[in-house]
Amino acid sequence: MPRPGGSTMHYYSTRGQDGPLGYEDALLSGLARDGGLYLPAEWPRFTEADISAMQGLSYAELAGRIMAPFCDGEVDEAELTAMAQDAYAGFDHPDIAPLVPLQDNLHVLELFHGPTIAFKDYAMQFLARAFDRALKKNRQHAVIVGATSGDTGSAALEAFKGRDAVDIFILFPDGRVSPVQQRQMTSVVADGAHAVAVSGDFDDCQAVVKALFNDLEFRDQVNLSAINSINWARLMPQIVYYFAAALRLGAPARKVAFSVPTGNFGNVFAGYVAVQMGLPVERLIIASNQNDILPRFFASGAMARETVVPSLSPSMDIQVSSNFERLLFELLDRDGAATATVMQHFAETGRFEVDDSVLARARQLFSAYRLDDAGTLAEIAETAAQSNMTIDPHSAVGVYAARAAHADGTVSSDVPIVALACAHPAKFDAAVAKATGVAPALPPHLADLMQRPERQQHVAATPDAVRSLIMKMKRGT
Ligand SMILES: *Cc1c(COP(=O)(O)O)cnc(C)c1O
Repeated sequence: MPRPGGSTMHYYSTRGQDGPLGYEDALLSGLARDGGLYLPAEWPRFTEADISAMQGLSYAELAGRIMAPFCDGEVDEAELTAMAQDAYAGFDHPDIAPLVPLQDNLHVLELFHGPTIAFKDYAMQFLARAFDRALKKNRQHAVIVGATSGDTGSAALEAFKGRDAVDIFILFPDGRVSPVQQRQMTSVVADGAHAVAVSGDFDDCQAVVKALFNDLEFRDQVNLSAINSINWARLMPQIVYYFAAALRLGAPARKVAFSVPTGNFGNVFAGYVAVQMGLPVERLIIASNQNDILPRFFASGAMARETVVPSLSPSMDIQVSSNFERLLFELLDRDGAATATVMQHFAETGRFEVDDSVLARARQLFSAYRLDDAGTLAEIAETAAQSNMTIDPHSAVGVYAARAAHADGTVSSDVPIVALACAHPAKFDAAVAKATGVAPALPPHLADLMQRPERQQHVAATPDAVRSLIMKMKRGT
């Protein structure tokens, strides 16, 4: 989509105090300096004819077409297509994100065909190439530090391993990730890639990462970068599969709805962006587990933090959905000062409320459902028995929400719903076995995973310990 005068896309913080900056600067800095999140100055818009013309593109070509306007003036469509081609070359399905019918007007979008069998691969594989390109162009080296409760860390280590321009350190809570998740991280043996077991829980890991980013001297010294889901470039590649699924179901002529298992609000926000870009979408369904801060918000207009209760879908065990700030900024008519005030209040009190008119606007596009662990097991069992399809606990929460939205008329029964399947069932095999009596097998490329040799560092949960480890292990200058 050519933009008049060849102007470049500019990014601004949701808190109004940072920007404009270009795509690659937004990519490399991750979090804005005022504590906000970067968003493009305006949403690129595809016409119906533009969307019709996407029919028949390969997945990589579609990725290039959709991401190009966000990188305008810096990376062109042909290069983005080539990067996507490379990023997804190792995926184990020719459709990259295959759409599988479950029953009438209910489809499952399988987002687990990448190397670490969760949807994080779709963004992370692209992100690693985007970092490489940006750093090499400027002859820079970066150190990436991230905390993970499981899926992000394995996808990141797999994507960034062996890249000269980057050293990556992924902190995970020792003994508190699933055996498959742990082995996916610790079996990455490559220069510059480090799985770090921290004696503490996920919050301790995150607190250490925050402390390192707040140590400005250290941050500049090693050129610290973040790859968590608040990085705008993580969201960009996720927009693509919303278009891919809708095109397969007849877009732009036919509207569809999506049901999205949600934790940090990143994946479902990518769906929101697809809508802003012109994709005809009837409804976005937010699917939460028992940590239901979002369904409570959509019921009452009040966002109220509670303590996290561990569930069978641990990647959604989140009380503060960091990417929600981006939707809030949109709902507040892109008023950065107003967004900053609300977020400040939330940080201090654990609570904020929006006006009825704001809530009403949010409800025009979004609905939210919750499902507890008992319901999750029941959904896995029912889907296996009725449709002979094995789904993981996160996907089950999404499939349940899709069925509920059809059943209560929130989405008319003649509108197809696409439920996003965010992880392969073998990644959460214990829960699946509990529901169905059968433990799902890992896909062929991971069949020997649990026999692979492990390498990991062990550190105390303090910024000093992690800082010393990084200084000792990092390459570059
Ligand atoms: C990360 C993750 C989620 C939550 O996605 P968000 O973008 O944080 O909302 C859901 N399911 C699985 C399997 C995940 O790995």
